[in-house]
Amino acid sequence: MSLIVLILGGTQEAAELAKTAINLPNIQVKLSLAGRISQSIISENCRVGGFGGVTGLIKYLQAEKIDLLIDATHPFAAKISDNAAIAAEKLGLPRLMLVRREWEFVTDDKWIEVENIQTAAAILPSLAKRVFLTIGRQELTAFTQVENIWFLMRMIEKPAPDIILPKGLLLLKRGPFDQDLEKQLLDEYNIDTVVSKNSGGDATYGKIIAARELGVKVVMVKRPMLPQGKQVEDVEAALKWIKEF
Ligand code: NAP
Repeated sequence: MSLIVLILGGTQEAAELAKTAINLPNIQVKLSLAGRISQSIISENCRVGGFGGVTGLIKYLQAEKIDLLIDATHPFAAKISDNAAIAAEKLGLPRLMLVRREWEFVTDDKWIEVENIQTAAAILPSLAKRVFLTIGRQELTAFTQVENIWFLMRMIEKPAPDIILPKGLLLLKRGPFDQDLEKQLLDEYNIDTVVSKNSGGDATYGKIIAARELGVKVVMVKRPMLPQGKQVEDVEAALKWIKEF
């Protein structure tokens, strides 16, 4: 008898896990994406779009006869992780969180750690004039009212047309980003402060190294609390967990 695994995705790790787990014997894999990025690569075993809160997720898990749930969403996607925890608990489903390790402060870093995006926006005027804003496009509006700062804003896709953007320049690019090019970018735009989520992973760490080497400040947004439950840091460990069933 085969087991059906639902992977909640939106990260590189989730995509890798889905691709690899499909080769395990007696395992069927489904990958779920929120659908934020229109150019996402959608495979045959992939569904796209929200479930409709906890109730919708429970219905989906039951209808699709899911046996195992892996929450491999981004560490800042707190809502879906909470929903997954509640739904799995209600149904008695085994659940694993695949969460990449966070970046750690090293000597020469000039980090100012903050609890959330709103706090990052609030403290910026006291320390910055030219900011590299690398938080994606969902929370840009937190910075719209920030005055006397010019923003270089990098994201994968354009924000919705009704969003009022902070003053500055939009840069549409998808990682990974090379650290030397990140250094050039900070230099070219005369950036004095980077705003980043503590996403972890190698793909976007280049800007953190670049900032360190150039003596540029980093306003580092701390991760939100994750629900209780078993966590692993990489795809290999997640595969091992699946094999235990
Ligand atoms: P979120 O705030 O935790 O979730 C908001 C809603 O989006 C959820 O309640 C759910 O809708 C839907 N959703 C999120 N992930 C889903 C998934 N994998 N499959 C189906 N529905 C999902 O999430 P977010 O911060 O907006 O992030 C959205 C997606 O982008 C996540 O999958 C995440 O992995 C990815 N991502 C996020 C960030 C980030 O910085 N937040 C960065 C890179 C990638 P319903 O309640 O209707 O089910």
